Amino acid sequence: MSDCIFCKIANKEINSELIYENDNIVAFKDLNPRAKMHFLIIPKKHYDTILDIDDTKIMQDIFKAVKEIAKKYNIDEKGFRLINNCKEDGGQEVMHMHIHMLAGEKLKTTII
Ligand code: 5GP
Ligand code: ZN
Repeated sequence: MSDCIFCKIANKEINSELIYENDNIVAFKDLNPRAKMHFLIIPKKHYDTILDIDDTKIMQDIFKAVKEIAKKYNIDEKGFRLINNCKEDGGQEVMHMHIHMLAGEKLKTTII
């Protein structure tokens, strides 16, 4: 996906503050943080939405990344929130599947 901003971040064609990387996944700081810590976890391979991921290894690696980031940033004790906005009703703006990881403070309750 040559015009996808998150593909460009994954390929390091665009700068971002990378906080984690393995063979299939990168995580980086959100440009417009909504909490003291706001990371985005993405597969390097382009999938439009979470519904398009057909490779269980990618899902495994995403959850492995969550655990490793939680340890690395010392948020495993107090916790964090994961959010996936999917398509229009979910409020997805960037059409490269990503998981928001929010932490570092007591997060406000929104819907749930
Ligand atoms: P969505 O609404 O699609 O779930 O979230 C997209 C997120 O990507 C937003 O929180 C937005 O701040 C973030 N974002 C959009 N463009 C960039 C970018 O170029 N760099 C980084 N680091 N974050 C971005
Ligand atoms: Zn992409």
